[in-house]
Amino acid sequence: MDQNPLEYRVFKHKKSTLSFYCPLCRTERALTSTYKLSAKNYLQILMTSVFFVLILFPLMELKSLWIFFVVWAGFELCVRLVYRKEIPCPHCGFDASWYQKDVKMARKLVTNFWDTKKPKEEVEIEPEIKQKDFEDTPVIPEISPDDASIYLN
Ligand SMILES: [Zn+2]
Repeated sequence: MDQNPLEYRVFKHKKSTLSFYCPLCRTERALTSTYKLSAKNYLQILMTSVFFVLILFPLMELKSLWIFFVVWAGFELCVRLVYRKEIPCPHCGFDASWYQKDVKMARKLVTNFWDTKKPKEEVEIEPEIKQKDFEDTPVIPEISPDDASIYLN
């Protein structure tokens, strides 16, 4: 018998850079982007910079070369944002990067995730039913490293 169907929800990830199991819902996860710039990104930075330098050179002359650093910073920011966007689990809303920084915030994100997932009719009916839904929301357990050993067979 299949006891943990959630773990097999995702079959294959193309070109994943990192794969792991979601600690909250146990679904297999895979990240396809990294926070580092790729060789292709550096080429794009170079091309974009050359493009802007050609436009700005008549106005700014050698000062226009500084645009390279602006373009570089912009690319760094974008790559990081794309990476951060990929971290939260699409099935349960667990965000490992927030969990590392602030457990309360990570818990809030999971609660928000389940709130937005609910169909509209459900949200609009009586408060006692809403309360029941809230109880079904998975809660991130607070476990000490000693207690954690019980999960490792
Ligand atoms: Zn999950």
